[in-house]
Parts: sequence; C-alpha cells; structure tokens
Amino acid sequence: MKICVIGAGVVGCATAYQLSRIGHEVTLVDSAPGPAAGASFANGAQLSYSYVEPLANPSTFRAIPKMLLDPQSPLGLRFRADSSQWRWIASFLRSCTPARSRRGSLALLATASLSRQANDRWMNEDGLDFAVQRNGKLVLCPDAASLQHQSKQVQLQAAHGAEQALLTRDGCIALEPALRSHPDFVGGVWTPSECAADPRAYCKSLVNIAASRGLRTLWSTRATRFVIKGHRAGCLQTTAGDLVADAFVLATGIHAPELARQLGESILIEPIKGFSLTLEIKKGRRGPATSITDLARKTVLAPLDGKLRIAAFAELGRTDLKIPPHRLRQMMQTVEAIYPGLCDFTEPNAWAGLRPATPDSLPIVRQSRIANVFLNAGHGALGFTLAAGCAVQVTEAIHDARAMHSTAATAVFPTLAH
Ligand SMILES: Cc1cc2nc3c(=O)[nH]c(=O)nc-3n(C[C@H](O)[C@H](O)[C@H](O)COP(=O)(O)OP(=O)(O)OC[C@H]3O[C@@H](n4cnc5c(N)ncnc54)[C@H](O)[C@@H]3O)c2cc1C
Repeated sequence: MKICVIGAGVVGCATAYQLSRIGHEVTLVDSAPGPAAGASFANGAQLSYSYVEPLANPSTFRAIPKMLLDPQSPLGLRFRADSSQWRWIASFLRSCTPARSRRGSLALLATASLSRQANDRWMNEDGLDFAVQRNGKLVLCPDAASLQHQSKQVQLQAAHGAEQALLTRDGCIALEPALRSHPDFVGGVWTPSECAADPRAYCKSLVNIAASRGLRTLWSTRATRFVIKGHRAGCLQTTAGDLVADAFVLATGIHAPELARQLGESILIEPIKGFSLTLEIKKGRRGPATSITDLARKTVLAPLDGKLRIAAFAELGRTDLKIPPHRLRQMMQTVEAIYPGLCDFTEPNAWAGLRPATPDSLPIVRQSRIANVFLNAGHGALGFTLAAGCAVQVTEAIHDARAMHSTAATAVFPTLAH
C-alpha cells in the first residue's frame, strides 16, 4: 500500500518505520525541517517499559488543591476560555478513580511491553541505534503514603510480568550512593530492566534506516486538509502540493485534534507543558548509575550519553514554549539536591515541550470515521516508551481494515496513482 504518515515525532517516525519495514511504500510529512522537532526533541529519555501509571490517578486528584494555589508546585493548571479544555478536565477527573487508573495502568503496560519487543527487534535485526542504556530506574517516594501507593502499583505490575522491588531508603542508597545527601525520600521502587535513551537519535535512526528501504520524507511541509469523498480521504492537501495515498496515519501530537476534526472526530488532546535540561558532568566526576524519578518533584533524571538529562513539571493549559526563570532554577536546585557538585550549569541546554495528553493517559490508536485514515496520537508523558508498540498496533489496524473490506464491492483502499 501507499501510506502517508503525518508528523515525524517519535510516534510518526516509529509508525513510518514499521510500515516500511514490512514492505509498504511510505511518505513521512512534517512541517518542521527534520524529525523530532516537537515534544520528542529533548524529553526525559526514559523508556518506562515496566513502570507506567496514568497521570489521572487518585494521588494526582489529591494534589489538585496545592496545584491551584502554589506557583512552585510541579503540577500547574491554567484555565483557558476554551470548551475543549473544560471537557478534557471533566473527563480527567472522572478518570482519577482507583478502578479506572488500574485499568489504564494495565492497558499502558501491555503497549509498553509490545514496545520493548519491537525496539529490541529493530535494534537486533536492523541495527537501530539510539544510545540505549539498560541501567534500571529508581522511583523515589517522599513519604510513607506514597510508598504505600507505589507498593500497590508494584503488586499490580508484578501480576503482569514486571520485575520490581520495593526498597527502603538505605536500599536505594546502596544502589545509588550519590543519593545519600538527598533529604526528601523514605524509600523507592527499583526496576532493573528499565532503559534510558536519546529520543532525537531514535527518530533520526528510524528515518535513516527506513529511507534505505525507500521511505520518502517531506520536511517543511504542513498538512492542511483532507479531501474526503464518501467514506475515504482521496488525498491530503499540503503546503508542498496534494499527496495521494491508500491510507493516512495522523501522528501530529498536540495538533492532532485540528486535522481530526475534518474527519468528523472530536478527540480530546491537551498540551501538558514540561521542561528539560541536558547537563555536562564535571571532569573527574562519575555520572549516576541509574535513572531516577523523584515523585515529590515530578522530576526524572537520566544518564544520557555521558551527560545528565533532567525533565520536570506538568503544566496543563500552557501552549507557549517559554522557559520561566523560576522553573530553570527549580530544576538546577533539584540536580544539586540529588547530585551535589556533579554537573556544570554554564550551558544548561534548557528546553520546553508540550506533551500531547488525553484525559485518561491512553493514546488514541485506531481507525477514524474516515475508513482509510488512522489515528496515532495522545501519548502524553509516555510517548517515547509507547511509540514502537503503538506503531505495531496502528499497522495492525490498517491491515485489519483492509482485510475486512477486501471482499467488498467498493474497495476501501484502492491504489491511486501519485
Ligand atoms: C518534558 C517532557 C519529558 C518527557 N519525558 C518522557 C520520558 O521520559 N519518557 C517517555 O516515554 N515520554 C516522555 N515524554 C513524552 C513524549 O516526549 C511525548 O509523548 C512524545 O514526544 C509525543 O510524540 P509525538 O510524535 O506524538 O508528538 P511530537 O513529537 O510533538 O510530533 C508531532 C509532529 O507533528 C508535526 N506536525 C504537527 N502538525 C502538523 C501538520 N499539520 N503537518 C505536518 N506536520 C505536523 C510537528 O512538527 C511534530 O514534529 C516527555 C515529554 C516532555 C514534554
């Protein structure tokens, strides 16, 4: 089939890769001059295959009053005069129950496991290279209540194959001695199989390998409109002209709702703003042995190719990419609190990105109301972790739709000439 993938973040690149890997003729379109220009550029670098929890959970629900009142809170909320934000918030609050959060964790765990398998296969069989480090992850809990909550999450994840251990403060320090001076944690969860890697290198490597199999890339090209005839999209109008394909995959992150509306789809995706720094480690100092998630500060720290990546904060309702000085300061203070004297802050490589979040943290991966257009968007805080698994899932959805309609009198995917 001729398939056009719109959006070249981690999700679109993994999708284009998987489709070209199994022999489809793929075109990848992005409005930016190259891959990974959006939320995928410098994210937290964690591949959290075994440790996934929706943001909509009972403990986030309890944190809402503080989030509204304290400007230093790692979670932020800014109301917009926009009915879709209000619908998103209402749906988010409904998703915070223990039962829904549990169902969400299980669904995310299944897709994350699919991702691990796909990425391992791509690395082993195709030479995909994106600076993967398998050095495990330690999630630090600030108090007994959060440790108790995490122990339930560990039990839930263990029943589905995740190998994790609950550690005391001393147990965490034995694993990562640098944590000795960190004042604010009582214990943590250790997941030895977790990985960290570079999301931009991931996108570049996926595109390069797929290009050697015939992937066509159209950079600096914005998709503007689907031309729909009956139940099919005949072509996609772009700033570089019309693109004709048998099927289209929409993987445009926070911008997915705009094009989806043309398909009769009202999908709820809101940007959740976050920040990162990529810091040099001082000469003569040894970098951290593992990735860390500090739950109190909503911060992740990952060793990345000889540097330290720190990513933090979740601000709902902000659509700009400004980096306020207080957020920069907070991140630097966190690095100093956890790893005193380790990093050089002269060039912090500060970055801001917008996570494309659905209310229940589950990505939207399915056929749209228009039979030959498929959605792969809304991966929130876990897009890097879920990208490969969702690429496999959307490919299956495309094949299922083709199989279902292959005997119909009117073909759903007639091949049109370019
Ligand atoms: C601070 C921060 C830390 C994070 N940490 C982690 C982490 O540790 N682990 C993890 O798994 N995930 C993490 N994430 C989440 C992850 O980065 C996102 O879920 C992921 O990048 C989303 O990928 P995407 O491809 O859907 O969107 P994007 O990367 O935003 O890509 C969308 C692409 O679509 C293009 N586009 C949009 N509209 C159009 C159009 N009309 N025509 C053509 N192109 C268009 C854009 O240019 C962009 O390149 C983090 C995110 C942030 C912000």
